[in-house]
Amino acid sequence: MDLVPLSEITNTNTRMETRRKFLGKVAVSAVGLPLITPFSNPFATFGPAADGPVLRVAIMGLGSYGTRVAEAMKDCTRAKLVGVISGTPSKVKTWQQQYGIPENNCYNYENYDAIKNNPDIDAVYMTTPNGLHCEGAKRVAAAGKHVISEKPMAVNAAEAQQMVEACKAAGVHLMVGYRMHFEPKTLRVVQMRQAGEFGKVHFFQGQSGFRIGDPNQWRLNPKLSGGGAMMDIGIYSINGARYMIGEEPIWVTAQETKTDPVKFKEGIDETIQFQLGFPSGAVASCLSTYAINYLDRFYLVGTDGFAEMQPSTGYGPIKGRTNKGELTDPHSTHQTLQMDGMARIIFDGEKPVVPVDGEEGVRDMKIIDAIYQAVKTGQKVALNV
Ligand code: NAD
Repeated sequence: MDLVPLSEITNTNTRMETRRKFLGKVAVSAVGLPLITPFSNPFATFGPAADGPVLRVAIMGLGSYGTRVAEAMKDCTRAKLVGVISGTPSKVKTWQQQYGIPENNCYNYENYDAIKNNPDIDAVYMTTPNGLHCEGAKRVAAAGKHVISEKPMAVNAAEAQQMVEACKAAGVHLMVGYRMHFEPKTLRVVQMRQAGEFGKVHFFQGQSGFRIGDPNQWRLNPKLSGGGAMMDIGIYSINGARYMIGEEPIWVTAQETKTDPVKFKEGIDETIQFQLGFPSGAVASCLSTYAINYLDRFYLVGTDGFAEMQPSTGYGPIKGRTNKGELTDPHSTHQTLQMDGMARIIFDGEKPVVPVDGEEGVRDMKIIDAIYQAVKTGQKVALNV
C-alpha cells in the first residue's frame, strides 16, 4: 500500500501546510499523545473550515447505509446530496421531500444511464448490494460521472479490476467507501507507526464480527453478497492489517468454522480465521465472523510500542490507546469526513494518508479471493497484490 510519507504531502495550501507542520512535529519530536489537543489536531481542519467546489452526489440504493450517508452529508461542506437512483418510487418521493432533491435528478435502475446528460450531478455513490457494484460502476463511468462504491468493492478481484479499467477508460475517479481512512484516531495510529513510534512492527490482530439476523437478507445470498462475513465485515480486518502494518501481504493461510450450515449455506462463510504474512516478517492474525456481536478490535505491536483500538471500525466514537496514552482526537461522523475528503481528492488533487482509490479496493478483493482459496485447499496461498 502506498501510504503517503509525511514528507511527500505536497499540497501547498494553508490547511495542508498546517497539517504538514503538525505531522512533522509529531514525527520528529516524539510528542506524546496526551499533548495532542483538539486545537492542534490537523484533521479538524478537514471539516467545516474547508472551502472549494462542492461534489454533487447521487446515491444509488436507498437502503440502510445509503440513508446513513445521506444524513452525514447534511454536515458536509464539500459534498452535497443532489440526486437518487432507486427502484422504489415511494422511497424516491420521501427522499425528495427529506433532502430537497429535484425531480430531474431522480432515476431508476432502467434509466440512470441518462445521468450522462445531467450537468447537475458529479458523482454516484453506490450503496447497493455488493453483487451490483461492478455493473453499476461500469454504467456510471460510461455516463461520465465519478464512481464511489461501497465496500466490498465487488464480489471478487476480477470484477473489481473491471471497475478500475472502466473508470480509467472513462477518465473518472473510482473510490471505495473506506470511511476509516478519514477517521482521526485511525490516522493518528498510522502516522505514529510511520514515524517509527512503535519501533519495528511485528504483529497485528484484527477481530471483526457481528451476529447477522434475518436469514433471507441479501447478505446471505451468494449472488448478491459474493460471500459471507469476510466480504461484509472481515474486510475491515484485512484492510486494517494493511494500513496498520503499512505493507502488502505476501501470503495467507485461513481456516473456516461453520456452526449453522442452514443459515450459512454454500458460498456464505460464517467464521474464518486467517493469517497474513508481510515482507518485513510481520504477521497479522484475524477473525471474521457473523456469529459474535461486539467483535471490533485492532491491536498493533512493534518492538517499542503498541496501539489498541476497541471499537476500531464501528461508526464510533472509536476508542483507543497506545503505550504513550489515550487517543484523544475528537470524533466526527465518519461519512461526513469521508465525503468531504473525497471531494478534496477529486477537486483539489489531495492525496489521502491511506488511499481510497479503486486499486486499493482491488488489493482487498485479491486477498479475499486468496483467503477463500486457502480455506478450500488448506494450503498457504502466495499473494501478489
Ligand atoms: P440495504 O439492504 O439496507 O440497502 C441496499 C439497497 O439496495 C436497498 O435500498 C435495496 O432496495 C437496493 N437494491 C437494489 N437492487 C437490489 C437487489 N437486487 N437486491 C437487494 N437490494 C437491492 O443494505 P446496506 O446495509 O445499506 O448495504 C449496502 C452496501 O453498503 C453494501 O455493499 C454494504 O457492504 C455497504 N455497507 C457499508 C457500510 C460501511 O460502514 N462502509 C455499512 C453498511 C453497509
